[in-house]
Amino acid sequence: MAVTGLCILGATGSIGCSTLDVVAQHPDRFRVVALTAHRQLDRLLAQCQQFRPDVAVVADAGAARHLQDALGAARVSTQVWHGEEGLVRAAALPEVGMTMAAIVGAAGLMPTLSAVRGGKTVLLANKESLVMGGALFMAEVQRHGAQLIPIDSEHNAIFQCLPRAFAPGLAGAGVRRLMLTASGGPFRRMTAEDMAAVTPEAACAHPNWVMGRKISVDSATLMNKGLELIEAHWLFGLPPERIEVVVHPQSVIHSLVEYVDGSVLAQLGHPDMRTPIAHALGWPERLPLDLPPLDLVRVGNLGFEAPDHARFPSLGLAYDALRSGGGAPVVLNAANELAVAAFLERRLPFVGIPDLIDRALQRLGDQAAGCWEAVIELDRRTRASCAAWLEEGS
Ligand code: NAD
Ligand code: MG
Repeated sequence: MAVTGLCILGATGSIGCSTLDVVAQHPDRFRVVALTAHRQLDRLLAQCQQFRPDVAVVADAGAARHLQDALGAARVSTQVWHGEEGLVRAAALPEVGMTMAAIVGAAGLMPTLSAVRGGKTVLLANKESLVMGGALFMAEVQRHGAQLIPIDSEHNAIFQCLPRAFAPGLAGAGVRRLMLTASGGPFRRMTAEDMAAVTPEAACAHPNWVMGRKISVDSATLMNKGLELIEAHWLFGLPPERIEVVVHPQSVIHSLVEYVDGSVLAQLGHPDMRTPIAHALGWPERLPLDLPPLDLVRVGNLGFEAPDHARFPSLGLAYDALRSGGGAPVVLNAANELAVAAFLERRLPFVGIPDLIDRALQRLGDQAAGCWEAVIELDRRTRASCAAWLEEGS
């Protein structure tokens, strides 16, 4: 059996650790070539001791020296690189066949693009890259012959419910509509008044999934579903009016595809990211995983609700940004990252998150972003404007 060389961008995060967990169950299938992390050096050191990658990448030269010394003491021969340049090199190493793109936020854009430009099989968790530059990103996927497999559970579910060979646009596949399921997050039943006082701890305590802090807050505002709407648009080529969101509190159905004959296909499973990760790592084969079977009798009922746009305005902002096109999704993404960081640092109330994004879209949402330089410049300008507004407000 051929052994696939693997680069894991964001190895110390929630998706990164789940990926290594799956890889450890299939040592004959994968060789870990590169692992990257930003701050959690101890965790990265332990991962290097276990998986013996050729390369590890950290944030800066100081962290690189520190890790290199620790690896030396542990007699591990992994080379340590640093910075964005190190990430970009690692993602496209010739020994790498597959790159897991699991850095959070806009920081993941350049390393993920590097994997695409290297013609790798790219396992895409970093939805922010597609939100920032979907058209440009998909054009690069085509040009460089990269294979994109979605990791986000909703998009992975849709991928599984589509015919094996689907052309971008899906028109030929007879698809009428995509339905993205949303858990509704921890504040699904909370009144607007109570939401004004929620803490970062409460926002990060997701009812069904264990995830990094940024995506946990995105799930609580429903912006995560907004980002996923834009992600689905670029991955599957359907217009926003044919991509719907349905709240499904049990997170057992991970998304659905409706065909023109009325058939609706869904993918079900435990809310555990190791399932979509194993699907993507093994595709088109299936890798066995040590998860308990899904016990539908125990699940009992599956519920569905319409999203409440009044209490969760972020989802509507994402629909608007996708319809506006141009640089609006870049502004949406950058303003959201800034707002979420400010909320986590207790500098902005929870309900201030959509307000800040709305303000940014009104001021900067009509800018163009037709090339990567323009995307990066608009991302920078949006962050600077949001930082200044936060400063004024404090
Ligand atoms: P996380 O915060 O747990 O981990 C993020 C990883 O990125 C860490 O390894 C961290 O070291 C690295 N990182 C952070 N900032 C960086 C920077 N500036 N430069 C380089 N590396 C940096 O996040 P996560 O929950 O694993 O999410 C990762 C990505 O996957 C996000 O884009 C998220 O939207 C997506 N995703 C996550 C889940 C989930 O269940 N966690 C599900 C679907 C999609
Ligand atoms: Mg998701």
